[in-house]
Amino acid sequence: MTRPDSSYSMSRRHLLATGSGVAAGSALGMLGLGESAVAGPRADADAIVVGAGLAGLVATAELAAAGRRVLLVDQEPEASLGGQAFWSLGGLFFVNSPEQRTAGIKDSIDLARNDWFSNAGFDRGVDDPLGEDYWASRWAEAYLQFAAGEKRAWLAGLGVTWVPIVGWAERGGQLADGPGNSVPRFHLTLGTGPGVMEPFEKLVRTAVAQGKVSFRFRHQVDGITMAGGAVSGVRGSILEPSSAARGTPSSRTKVGDFELRAPIVIVTSGGIGGNQELVRRNWPARLGPPPARLITGVPAHVDGRMLAISEAAGARLVNRDRMWHYTEG
Ligand SMILES: Cc1cc2nc3c(=O)[nH]c(=O)nc-3n(C[C@H](O)[C@H](O)[C@H](O)COP(=O)(O)OP(=O)(O)OC[C@H]3O[C@@H](n4cnc5c(N)ncnc54)[C@H](O)[C@@H]3O)c2cc1C
Repeated sequence: MTRPDSSYSMSRRHLLATGSGVAAGSALGMLGLGESAVAGPRADADAIVVGAGLAGLVATAELAAAGRRVLLVDQEPEASLGGQAFWSLGGLFFVNSPEQRTAGIKDSIDLARNDWFSNAGFDRGVDDPLGEDYWASRWAEAYLQFAAGEKRAWLAGLGVTWVPIVGWAERGGQLADGPGNSVPRFHLTLGTGPGVMEPFEKLVRTAVAQGKVSFRFRHQVDGITMAGGAVSGVRGSILEPSSAARGTPSSRTKVGDFELRAPIVIVTSGGIGGNQELVRRNWPARLGPPPARLITGVPAHVDGRMLAISEAAGARLVNRDRMWHYTEG
């Protein structure tokens, strides 16, 4: 198995400054934030972010910090802002952190890389730009660099703090020499998931107050629009107001249509875990037929609809049969 060049690194700021990659989740408009990414007179914003979960909040906060006007669109009511992150345990992956060192845990980027790459088993065209694992393996390398580099300081700078005892999640074989993390790397955030979400919600709400960001709740994206061969915005259904409590299913009754235009569209719509039909359709062949009974651990809004919508607009979906599902929710 070949590994991407380990000198390859992509910081958040590098990514935003150069547009050399795409944001968390799948992204259609590349984040080239040069002049061409600034909205023309016919656009509603510089960027549209589809999905106001943690990935959408982070992307929006970063865009606003870079001086861009953003529309943050979500099908759910405001009560569900933050998506799955609110329900999560907030365990974060850092490599060679002060917490690990205090506990006498000897970690390094090389050890973490070895754990990740041997566990992932990238084998679908790592060296072929059209291969399914080409970007997957490069993202893995970039994420390892991030987790061993600026990630902790960046979050600490935003006020996030962690329990001093490091947990040993994703151990795979449950033994140190089995698959998964060979040393403890699970840094539990004080305040759990909401503690991770809070600083980004604050940044976005501040940007809303400053007129840089505007929310569009109960706006369900049904399509990505194109003009001249490029993404030009999104269209969809305005859903009736809902008083559904956070995480509970909300009505899908449509009361109108909408269309929004921007030169950048970032899709941060979460996974497919709330859609058992989609999970069954993508079930890995090596595991045989999908089980008749599945347990869902994520809110109903994790419906995976945006995958087919993005694909219809030209996004390339990869590794559909490789899934990770939470059952704890
Ligand atoms: C119980 C539980 C525990 C977890 N614990 C951890 C942990 O300890 N550590 C860790 O790292 N991760 C953990 N996770 C995983 C982590 O929380 C998620 O991976 C992460 O929060 C996903 O964020 P997201 O923004 O990508 O997606 P989501 O939170 O799912 O947000 C996606 C948003 O997109 C919106 N959307 C989707 N389609 C459309 C559309 N067509 N139009 C408009 N809006 C749309 C949805 O309504 C939603 O608000 C846990 C998850 C769960 C459920």
